[in-house]
Amino acid sequence: VRDCNEVFMTTSAQLFEQASRHIPGGVNSPVRAFKGLHRPPVFMERAQGAYLFDVEGKRYVDYVGSWGPMITGHADPDVLGAVRERLDKGLSFGTPTAIETTMADLICHMIPSIEMVRMVNSGTEATMSAIRLARGFTGRDKIVKFEGNYHGHSDSLLVKAGSGALTHGEPSSPGVPASLAEHTITLSYNDSDEVETCFEEMGSEIACIIVEPVAGNMNCIPPRPGFLETLRRVCTENGSVLIFDEVMTGFRVAMGGAQAHYGITPDLTCLGKIIGGGMPVGAFGGKREVMEQISPLGPVYQAGTLSGNPLAMAAGIALLTKLQEPGFHDALAQRVETLCHGLQERADAAGVDMLTQRAGGMFGLFFTGQSRVDNFAQATACDAEAFRRFFSAMLDQGVYLAPSAYEAGFMSSAHTPEDIQQTLDAAVKAFEYVRQP
Ligand code: PMP
Repeated sequence: VRDCNEVFMTTSAQLFEQASRHIPGGVNSPVRAFKGLHRPPVFMERAQGAYLFDVEGKRYVDYVGSWGPMITGHADPDVLGAVRERLDKGLSFGTPTAIETTMADLICHMIPSIEMVRMVNSGTEATMSAIRLARGFTGRDKIVKFEGNYHGHSDSLLVKAGSGALTHGEPSSPGVPASLAEHTITLSYNDSDEVETCFEEMGSEIACIIVEPVAGNMNCIPPRPGFLETLRRVCTENGSVLIFDEVMTGFRVAMGGAQAHYGITPDLTCLGKIIGGGMPVGAFGGKREVMEQISPLGPVYQAGTLSGNPLAMAAGIALLTKLQEPGFHDALAQRVETLCHGLQERADAAGVDMLTQRAGGMFGLFFTGQSRVDNFAQATACDAEAFRRFFSAMLDQGVYLAPSAYEAGFMSSAHTPEDIQQTLDAAVKAFEYVRQP
């Protein structure tokens, strides 16, 4: 057992070596490992606003934002204040608390398609429970998902998944029974024809479609016009449940999520990340008639010792409340646009093939000569070595991007024009490095 002060005096490389002794791969989630990047992950000590500070005192402009939640920047004083205020009342009661109702009311207000909502502790739990509910509600087993979409690591959904499962080259994980995976039909993202054909063949057996309405786990891929509309229509025609996994897009692409941005109403919505303000929170909700099937009202079982935890609710409510400030999301989208245009200009000037795609507060950089990237096959055809070089050069210059070519980037309202400028200046050098033989 070591003394904390001693830990702070060491380097990331030393900490990584120590961590790897008792933690698989030295990390508690695989996406944090710098897999394939030929350098150890950076251990962070603290964060403030748009910045991360590592254990060696180096500052980074952060475009990961704890993988999404930190939409107003790190250590937001309003969020921390709300948590502090709750803290002395106790950490968890295992009884109903009024603050859970406040959260439920707020979610239903911000996302009108949600008439009832159940809180859980992660995005994985939200999608897993929503799938069970859709199956219970329809009495059907088959589910449809899209290649490169990631919905957490529950068995049915860990089939041709994105994010870490993609980075690590394990689209389907050992340990997922074939008898379970066989109920998961995987189609190509943005391919409406394939969806139509699938439903013509077996629509009456399909419990649900689950989709990232903007794909953020194979880089950033917005839906093509008509794609989400097709999903809505086939689900309605076949009595299947349409589930939008808005764990990433919720409150980020627009206040009401991607469903508000694109004007498509799902039957169920999964939430996570921002909804907890940095605490472990997820939620799933939607149509009353579907949600009433959840226990204790209905027969579909779902539960959680710490679900609706009051500290987590306090953090989430404080953050969601801030996002309702008029113009918040327009300003955020504007920042993302400025960053993406700036990067594109510099890549073009350097003669590096790069493409940016974005939706609201999220963006992606693709090292490719393609004019757009719409699906998994196109995303994985990008130049992985160019990404690695770019990532490494940016990191050295104090810019923290997601350590994988298959993750979306996130901005926050704490990113200033100076932060963007620093990023663009770093990119000029990084693109040079990408071009070197
Ligand atoms: N769905 C989506 C769209 C996600 O991006 C993620 C996590 N990145 C999840 C589900 C799983 O959430 P969690 O990691 O909180 O379990």
